[in-house]
Amino acid sequence: MTRLRHKKRESFLLCPQCRSPEIFLVAGMITGQVYLCKNCGYQGSLVLEVDAPADATTKPG
Ligand SMILES: [Zn+2]
Repeated sequence: MTRLRHKKRESFLLCPQCRSPEIFLVAGMITGQVYLCKNCGYQGSLVLEVDAPADATTKPG
């Protein structure tokens, strides 16, 4: 019995202001999770979460 676990769903976060991936979760806040962007200095709980493209090497057309 072969069971393959193909978990290839990686997502990453983007800054909602400058769309930079240089955004990190800052823990220890009373309001909950707060993210900090290293690129533009954005701070907030709202971030863009996008899925990594499965076929990044494939060229369209
Ligand atoms: Zn930013």
